[in-house]
Amino acid sequence: MTQPMPTFDQARTDAEPLLSVRDLVVEYHTQRGLVRAADHVSFDLHRNEVFGLAGESGCGKSTVAHAITRILKPPAHIAGGQVLFDEVDVLKLNDDQLRDIRWRRISIVFQSAMNALSPVLTVGTQIADALQAHENGTAQMTRRQVLDRARELLDLVGIDPDRVNSYPHQLSGGMRQRVVIAIALALNPELIVMDEPTTALDVVVQKQIMDQIRELRNQFGFSILFISHDLSLMVEFSDRVGIMYAGELVEVAPSQAIFNDPQHPYTVRLMNSFPTLSGPRVELFGIPGSPPDLITPPPGCRFHPRCDVALAGRCQTERPGLQPIGARHMAACHLLDDKIVNKEDAS
Ligand code: SF4
Repeated sequence: MTQPMPTFDQARTDAEPLLSVRDLVVEYHTQRGLVRAADHVSFDLHRNEVFGLAGESGCGKSTVAHAITRILKPPAHIAGGQVLFDEVDVLKLNDDQLRDIRWRRISIVFQSAMNALSPVLTVGTQIADALQAHENGTAQMTRRQVLDRARELLDLVGIDPDRVNSYPHQLSGGMRQRVVIAIALALNPELIVMDEPTTALDVVVQKQIMDQIRELRNQFGFSILFISHDLSLMVEFSDRVGIMYAGELVEVAPSQAIFNDPQHPYTVRLMNSFPTLSGPRVELFGIPGSPPDLITPPPGCRFHPRCDVALAGRCQTERPGLQPIGARHMAACHLLDDKIVNKEDAS
């Protein structure tokens, strides 16, 4: 039998990060040349934490998520770094070891439920398949028991358990996405990677699903790596946020600090270009230009061609590194040099 899900109180809340990404480098070999889509990306994600990765399309956030779960396909290739999950480097695991942690400890929710679900199998069969493929203990479970567990999971994500016999096309877009979340929850993972989980849905359904995910997280205590280009949603939903630009992390901070006091010029402009989910109407400003071609990224700070406060000379030649600039706040910008604090003060 599958074990009952741990409650939030039972979930471990150690200070040690559950996931520690260190200097992750991912490259794509293309006909035009080598694209470094993730360039020395480092961040931690703690137990029961929601860490968001945000940025414009093509900034590398999904590449990072797929590298962590080892589902990148050629021409992508992990060229360096570590992905420590509970202190074990996921990048060094063989196929059997990977299979052992996938779904049981780390699961993923993809953007498009229609692509993630098979159109020719009922949702109950698809949940049951996930259970039987990854849970060692279900070998002895009867089909009846597995389907009962599938009904339980549907109920958990707010779908009538009788829908267990429905095919994906018989469900609305929101219900299909809930089914994908139920599959991700099937084996009580410690970490769920959510790659744009509600992007294809209208804002009302998006809000309902995000509220439901928040409730489930509070109940079961899993951690979430949340990927989105929607900064308003990201700030509302995440505990901490990392902003990516052109394959690099340029700012990492608690979401309230990103919302109230963004420090990196790119984050400031991103915040000014998104409407907030609540509060007064404000004028929005786009960011001029577009992200660089990563085959030939600009020298120095990659944001300098679009940055209206760039320093002449230095920003075009010297690449800024991510530095601590306050309590749990890091940014990569030469303008912030006088705010750099030592690492102990920042923790
Ligand atoms: Fe702008 Fe220079 Fe800061 Fe880059 S390093 S964001 S170009 S000020």
